[in-house]
Parts: sequence; C-alpha cells; structure tokens
Amino acid sequence: MNRQFRAILISKTDKGQSLAFVTFNEDDLMPGDVTVAVEHSTVNYKDGLAVTGRAPIIRHFPLIPGVDFAGTVTASGHRLIKAGDKVILNGWGVGESHHGGYAGLARVKGDWLVPVPENMTTADTMAIGTAGYTAMLCVIALERQGVRPEDGEILVTGAAGGVGSIAIALLAKLGYRVAASTGRPEEETFLRKLGATQIIDRGEFAGPVKALAKARFAGAVDAVGSTTLANVLSQINPEGAVAACGLAQGMDLPGSVAPFILRGVKLIGINSVTASPTRRAEAWSRLSRDLDLAKLKDLTSHARLDDVPAIAADIIAGKIRGRVVIDI
Ligand code: NDP
Repeated sequence: MNRQFRAILISKTDKGQSLAFVTFNEDDLMPGDVTVAVEHSTVNYKDGLAVTGRAPIIRHFPLIPGVDFAGTVTASGHRLIKAGDKVILNGWGVGESHHGGYAGLARVKGDWLVPVPENMTTADTMAIGTAGYTAMLCVIALERQGVRPEDGEILVTGAAGGVGSIAIALLAKLGYRVAASTGRPEEETFLRKLGATQIIDRGEFAGPVKALAKARFAGAVDAVGSTTLANVLSQINPEGAVAACGLAQGMDLPGSVAPFILRGVKLIGINSVTASPTRRAEAWSRLSRDLDLAKLKDLTSHARLDDVPAIAADIIAGKIRGRVVIDI
C-alpha cells in the first residue's frame, strides 16, 4: 500500500534552500526495516538551523527535516519490534541525511528506535526530545565524574532553553542545588519552579576570560559554548566537571588549560546523535525515573506542522522557552 501523508520538504537550488508543505508518498521514503505513523515531533536547536538553512545541517536534498519523532509502528521487519509498538527516534542522522519527523510517516532502521517508557506518552517523549535526552546524558556524565549533590552548586547555561530547562528539572529532582544562567530575567519564576535555587545573568559569563577565576560551582551543564564555556571552566571547583553539549553562543572555546592542569577540572563532551543503543536505553530509563512529568508539562508548549518554520526562526533567535512539541 502506497499511503500518502503531509510533510515538510526542504529543497536546494542555486538560489539556496527552500521549504514546502507537500503530500508525500510512502514509496518515496528512504530504506529502513520499520515504518512508523508519526504522532509527535519537536523543534530542537538543530532543527532550527536545518529548517532556516542557517547552518548546513541537511546533507541530502530534497529532505524531510525533523531530528526526532515518536509514534506507533505500522510495519516491521526488525526482530525486536512489532506493529503497534510505541517508539522514539532521536538523531542517527534522521532529519539530516535521512527523511525525518516532520511527516505523517517515517521509515527508519529498527536499530535506531527506543521503546516509549511505560509511564510516558509519545507526546511526553517529544516534550523531552533530543534536547531532554541530551540533558540526561549530561547529568549522567557529571555523575560518572563523581559530582555529588553535597559537592556544591551545579551551573546550567542556556537555562531557559530546551536542554537547560530539562537539565534543571533533572538536577533538582536528584537533589542538586542548581544555578541557572539566563539572558532572560523575565523567566526567573519559570526557572525557580523547575528547581533553580539561584538565577545568574548570563552576562556574568560573557566578559574577558581569566585563566582561573574564583571557584564557585561543583559542576556545570553547558548548552552555550564559546566565551561562556571558557568562563564557566575557570569557575569550577577543583576536581569538578563540565558536560558540554551546545554551541548556542558559538563553536569556539577561547579559554586556557589552567582549569584542567591546576584544578583537575574535567570537560566532558556530549554527542547525542550517535550515542550507542545502550547509552540511549540508559538515558531513557533514567528520564522515566528522574524527570518530574508535571514539571515537563510546565516547560512544554504544543504547535502544529504549519508552525514549524516560525518556531525554527524563534529557536535560533533564543526566543523559545523550554520545549515545543509538534502534534503531527
Ligand atoms: P534552545 O534554543 O532551546 O536553548 C539555547 C539557549 O541558549 C537559549 O534559550 C538561551 O538561553 C541561550 N543562548 C542563546 N544564544 C545565546 C548567546 N548568544 N549567548 C549566551 N546564551 C545564549 O536550544 P536547545 O536547548 O535545544 O539546544 C542548546 C544547544 O545544545 C544548541 O547549541 C544545540 O545545538 C545543542 N545540542 C547538542 C546536542 C548534542 O548532542 N551535543 C543535542 C541537543 C542540543 P537563555 O535565554 O536562558 O539565556
């Protein structure tokens, strides 16, 4: 059966990238052993870059963007997945080089899929999305470095964004004191409700970088990179750790090695896209246990496929609070 469904399609010509809402044929999807009726997707920062064309995220044209989706399996040739299963897809190049989640149907490799945790709906999993799953990977990385709640405060940068807001909720539930760095003071109430105990103006991390500044955080989750990350590293306590996952400010790192060699600070890189199935399963199992679903609801808004281009522009402009679920 060649079903038809609505999708966003990004094409490229000599004049640049263009976006269209199209009716797409199931037969034109890329190869894969599992077909999923997509119920929800989301807009991550990377989707913002892809949809607006601000960075060369899409590597195959024309392409259906959307790096995340969740839905119900309609057909499967995979030994562990059957029709009717609820599944999640995060990353693996979907929405970059393989047709993605801004569509009614998706066909992917079954090995890329994770089951929806029992206590969650497909909408919950997209409220988490790659941003929230990456926040979980960051928290696990800090734990692996031995950062404990009693060691002191954890700084979260890009606090009002997707990674930041979920990182705050997770860390607070796990008993950490959380300092939230934001450029949006109007989000103080929102951030405190998620569990932040201190709000810091992100301007504090925007100035010239000292090799070592006063040590004041036991660890950090950084979604921002650049001067912010360099300043954060210079303020981490001896033997503390920073999980770095983002580049909302920039890809550079204008700092020094002083925090590493004089304080034993660890900088842990987080890449969610190609994380192994074992790490993904661990992250989703931890999310189902350690994320307060009432807080998740507070930080989530819902929108439709037609809204994706506007939301993509807003996320790149740093205007999106928390997470946006796209109801397909
Ligand atoms: P959001 O846009 O939701 O959040 C980013 C936040 O960063 C903004 O809300 C803002 O927070 C802050 N910010 C934006 N611009 C600047 C700036 N110029 N200087 C300082 N702070 C800034 O994006 P996500 O949370 O979805 O993603 C955050 C980053 O993490 C992105 O770079 C994304 O690509 C990356 N990422 C990486 C992954 C990986 O696997 N490594 C996976 C997922 C995301 P505020 O308003 O509070 O200041």
